[in-house]
Amino acid sequence: MVSVTRIMEKALFGFAKQWIAGDTLDDALRSARQTYKKKMNVIINKLGEYNTSKKVIAKTVNEYQTILLSLKKSKIEGGISVKPTQVGLLVSKKECIKSFSAIIKTATQSNSFVWIDMESSDHTDETLEVYHKLFSSYERLGLALQANLKRTKNDLVDLLERGAKIRLVKGAYREGAKISYKSKVQVDENFLSLTKILFKKGNEFGIATHDGNMIDAAIEFSKKYARQFEFQMLKGIRDELKLELVKQKFSVSEYIPYGTNWLPYSIRRLKERRRNILLLGSSFIQSHRV
Ligand SMILES: Cc1cc2nc3c(=O)[nH]c(=O)nc-3n(C[C@H](O)[C@H](O)[C@H](O)COP(=O)(O)OP(=O)(O)OC[C@H]3O[C@@H](n4cnc5c(N)ncnc54)[C@H](O)[C@@H]3O)c2cc1C
Repeated sequence: MVSVTRIMEKALFGFAKQWIAGDTLDDALRSARQTYKKKMNVIINKLGEYNTSKKVIAKTVNEYQTILLSLKKSKIEGGISVKPTQVGLLVSKKECIKSFSAIIKTATQSNSFVWIDMESSDHTDETLEVYHKLFSSYERLGLALQANLKRTKNDLVDLLERGAKIRLVKGAYREGAKISYKSKVQVDENFLSLTKILFKKGNEFGIATHDGNMIDAAIEFSKKYARQFEFQMLKGIRDELKLELVKQKFSVSEYIPYGTNWLPYSIRRLKERRRNILLLGSSFIQSHRV
């Protein structure tokens, strides 16, 4: 008898497929080619986090290097995005820096961008330290900062003084009220004020959101401050808006995750929108019928 968990997982996968390129690197590259054809750049992410086995970490680093070389071979503009705990942060900061150094060495050959994803607040300090250590050796290294954290304004100002490349996001992790803004209104307000700082003091940054209000505000700032920046959105979300922005001559990158470890990523996407939960409900009912 098929267990309820299995049926649930199947229904969730049926729904989550829209956000993920597929299981393999070939799936990711196929998706990247389609994105690039639509005049967007690509940011490829191999799903996975919290790795503690050195063997798994080495394999992951190797796979990111293969992605970078494949992008170069296919002449696709863009790069990769990597979670620090995926490449050793839970083992030690030193291990994580070693992994990123190897990735950067390959990125130098392909001249690709390497983004460091920001994970939950338990890892913020160490992730910043990793970034500070590596940024001086590779200019095309960027870091995600989260508007839901109260500390981010200070982090952003400090990073911009050192010429850092930033991707601004709202933040996908549940955090405590002491350190984070809890309501959408507060997070949005902070996102807007951080966007303004980016336009005033930064360059080559990413505004990573699907929120039309945040995007409209960035467009307004861009009229006042001539900066190199791009909009970044996740695969499978607001596809029409991406094309509309491209049409208006804005740079857009699509973040393309792939791999078999799809569950945590999909649950974060699911929680971001109440409608997704309702849609999953109907998808679950349908899969249960079959
Ligand atoms: C390129 C990229 C990289 C990211 N990297 C990180 C990272 O390193 N660390 C991190 O913590 N978070 C990261 N995130 C996730 C981010 O923090 C948010 O959780 C996520 O983007 C949802 O927030 P939002 O800005 O789209 O706004 P929300 O307030 O969640 O949504 C605003 C509006 O956008 C639309 N929308 C949002 N989600 C969906 C959806 N699933 N389907 C359809 N419409 C939708 C709806 O119209 C919604 O009302 C990243 C996001 C992007 C786009």
